[in-house]
Amino acid sequence: MILLNIKFVNYTYEESLKQYTNYISSNNFSNLMCTNCKVIGNVQRNTEYVRNYIYIENEKDITETTIVITVVRCNNCGKYHALLPAFIFPYHIYSACFIMYALNMKLIKQQQAIKLISYLNISGQLLYYWIKVFNKFVSSSTIVLPQSPSKDPPKILHSILNDLQKFISDYYSKLFIMFFLNRKNHLFK
Ligand SMILES: [Zn+2]
Repeated sequence: MILLNIKFVNYTYEESLKQYTNYISSNNFSNLMCTNCKVIGNVQRNTEYVRNYIYIENEKDITETTIVITVVRCNNCGKYHALLPAFIFPYHIYSACFIMYALNMKLIKQQQAIKLISYLNISGQLLYYWIKVFNKFVSSSTIVLPQSPSKDPPKILHSILNDLQKFISDYYSKLFIMFFLNRKNHLFK
């Protein structure tokens, strides 16, 4: 898969989706690097698939929908890559904002897990899995958040949420990889 660094912070889902669709329909993939052979600009649109997607807006409106993901093929090595917009985590039907919202409510606002999982309609297992991945991300030696030298997850999350756009441009791909490496398909339905 290839991550498309599409802005989604402060954007509605419709706006983010429009950016993704515009990018795909421009059919200009000259800046895309194949994550397998590292050759740039040699991929071709191949197919697409539909995946489920759940997002949250205005910190309250939860919507379940589907999204069409385009797949390209690298002309150099022959590998296929899904073009994932940055508001999606691999193997997750929940949007990045949804997961950040859940982490925020639990780690910073200290909301009771039982209330939160019933409100978000997720399992406790999934919530604690997200917290585990996030904690792993924070304690990873490769992550140094300049605005927050602390290794305390709530403090780091707080500084991330303060400037989410900066976090995404600097660190999102690392968090993305963390979610990718820690995937456990049975949790993602
Ligand atoms: Zn390739």
